[in-house]
Amino acid sequence: MNQVVIFSAPSGAGKSTIVNHLLEKYDFLEFSISATSRKPRGMERNGVEYYFFTAEEFEAKIAAGDFVEYEEVYKGSYYGTLKSEVERIWAKGHIIVFDIDVKGGINVKSLFGDQATSIFIMPPGLDVLRERLVGRGTDSPEAIEKRLAKAEEEIAYRDRFDHVIVNDRLENSFAEAEAIIESIAGYSSKHSGTEL
Ligand code: 5GP
Repeated sequence: MNQVVIFSAPSGAGKSTIVNHLLEKYDFLEFSISATSRKPRGMERNGVEYYFFTAEEFEAKIAAGDFVEYEEVYKGSYYGTLKSEVERIWAKGHIIVFDIDVKGGINVKSLFGDQATSIFIMPPGLDVLRERLVGRGTDSPEAIEKRLAKAEEEIAYRDRFDHVIVNDRLENSFAEAEAIIESIAGYSSKHSGTEL
């Protein structure tokens, strides 16, 4: 059965670190490259981190029904998953990994039903989240307060996810995430020949 795994989290919870670890460890996982209308940041390349479109191009794709889901995550910036991306990855027999916002995560879970496993990454607390956002040094104090307010809203949705990982210690979070992935993939029986 074709499968998807969805990761959602408030920003600063450490979601990307966990997702990248899993993608490196398991070659049957493949990252779903989202489309966005925001501008590339730093070294980002089209077709690697995102498929970059103008807002007009993005809106034309919405009108054409090309998206599985999309959201205006930040004012003026669309993000969405193209149907062609899902087909591309499933054609290889890979399990799709989504890194999408909390609303998108809940939508994708209800779209894919039994084929989807959704995982919410929780920051250990809002204090820790504030420290991480300050430490990252990429946001102004006002932007940090905005992100924290959004984080509080997003955390309220954690019960809608199949699994919640509290990202206190990274090694523990890796182990919890690996156990979930391995159970989805039927890992131990398929890859080592032993039955559970
Ligand atoms: P960033 O601009 O920092 O790369 O991403 C901003 C937010 O957009 C993150 O929370 C990310 O998970 C979310 N996001 C990325 N791709 C998608 C998508 O295809 N759909 C939705 N709903 N959110 C997305």
